[in-house]
Amino acid sequence: MIDLNDLLGQVWPMAAQPAIPTESVGLNQALGRVLAQDVRSTLNVPQHDNSGMDGYAVRCADIQPSRRFQVSQRVPAGASPQALQPDTVARIFTGAPIPPGADSVVMQEEVVVNEDGSVTFSASPKSGQWIRRAGEDISCGQVVLSQGTRLDAIHVGLLASIGVPTVSVNRRLKVGVMVTGSELQSPGKLLQPGQIYNSNEYVWCGLLEAMHADVRSVGIVPDNFEATCAALESLADCDAVISSGGVSVGEEDHVKPAIEKVGQLRSWKVAMKPGKPIAFGHINRQDGGQSWFFGLPGNPVSSAVAFQLIVKPFLSLLEGQGLAEVDWRLRVRKVQAAFSWPSPDSRREEFLRADVQSDKATLFKNQSSGVLTSLARSSGLIRLAKGQVVHPGDWVEYVSYQDLMQ
Ligand code: AMP
Ligand code: MG
Repeated sequence: MIDLNDLLGQVWPMAAQPAIPTESVGLNQALGRVLAQDVRSTLNVPQHDNSGMDGYAVRCADIQPSRRFQVSQRVPAGASPQALQPDTVARIFTGAPIPPGADSVVMQEEVVVNEDGSVTFSASPKSGQWIRRAGEDISCGQVVLSQGTRLDAIHVGLLASIGVPTVSVNRRLKVGVMVTGSELQSPGKLLQPGQIYNSNEYVWCGLLEAMHADVRSVGIVPDNFEATCAALESLADCDAVISSGGVSVGEEDHVKPAIEKVGQLRSWKVAMKPGKPIAFGHINRQDGGQSWFFGLPGNPVSSAVAFQLIVKPFLSLLEGQGLAEVDWRLRVRKVQAAFSWPSPDSRREEFLRADVQSDKATLFKNQSSGVLTSLARSSGLIRLAKGQVVHPGDWVEYVSYQDLMQ
C-alpha cells in the first residue's frame, strides 16, 4: 500500500506537462477560467485624487473657523474641476476629482451653509482628510492577478476596474466520465431486482461543472471487458477520463485489464479509508496523443472523497492552477473532537465525515463508504493518521468541503 501523501507526490507533478493551449476570452466568459499569464494594470486606480465624502474641498491653510467662505465651483462625480481659487472652497461629491490646489475635504455634516450661500467651518481640517489618493488601490504597472489564478466574480470585477476587456486563459479541460456496473440503473427508470441507482455520475459531473470543465459522460457501462474498452476508447480525445467502479480484482472488475489494453496502467492500493483501490494511467489516442486516466472505487463515498482529494487537484493543475491554490493540505486546520474513535485502522489513514460548528467536530453516525448521506450531512473531513485513537476534547485535523472545492 502507498501512503496518500506519497501518491500525491508522485501523481500531481505529472499534471505540469504538457501545457494546455490558451485562448482569449471576453470578461463575460472569464468566470471560472484559469489565467494563462499575469495581468498588469496600465492605469492607476483610482485615476485621480478624489473625494471620499459629500462635502467641501478646501485648502487647509486658508481655513479659519467661523470665517465665511464663498463656494467658487461645484464638482460632481465625473466632472473635471478648475483650480481652486484662493480663499474659496469647492462643493464636492463622493468620487469627484479633487480640484488642483485643494488638499482636504470637509464632510458636509461639519459645515454650516449660510443664507447667502457662503459656508462656515467649525474646526480646522487636517491636510489630506477624506481624499482617496490616485493609485492607492492599484498602481500603474502593478500585477493585479497572477498566472494560474482561477477567476472568481471578484477577480473578474477587478479586471473590469482596470479596463481590461479580454484575458488570456487556458482552454477548458475536456473531462470524460464513465460509471461501470451492471447493477446500475438511471434515475427515472424502474429498479429491477438487484439494481441500484447510479449516483456517482451525478456527483462527479456536478463537481466537474463547478470547476468549469467541459464534461463528456458516456454514463453506465456494463461489467464486461469489451464494453469497458469501447467506453475508454470513445473518451480518448478528452484531456482526462474518470471511471467509477470495477477497480478491484474480482472477475467482474474489468477496468484495469481494459486500461492495459487501450493504454498504460499504474495502480495502487492507497493506505486510506475510504477510497483504497485507485487505478491511474493513460489511454492512447489514434493520433499518438494520450488522455490521463483515473479509475476510482464505485462506493459513493470512496469515489467522491478520492475525487476531491486526488483527482480534482490534479485536474486543476492540468488546467494551469498553481500548487498552492489546489493543495488542500495547506488548508487543513485543527478542530476539537466531540466524539471518540477508539478502534482506528492501524494500516490506513481515515477520512471521517464530520460536521464542524465553532471548531467542535461531531461525527456522522454511519461512516460506511457506501452511505452518501454521510457526505450530505457533514461539513468536511477529519483526517486521522494510521492507528490514531481519538478521545473527546482531542484536537484533530480537518478540511472543509468548501476548502476542498476551491
Ligand atoms: P465496485 O467498486 O464496482 O466494486 O462497486 C462498489 C460498490 O459501489 C458497489 O456496491 C456498487 O454497487 C456501488 N456503485 C458502483 N458504481 C456506483 C454508482 N455509479 N453509483 C452508486 N453506487 C455505485
Ligand atoms: Mg462494480
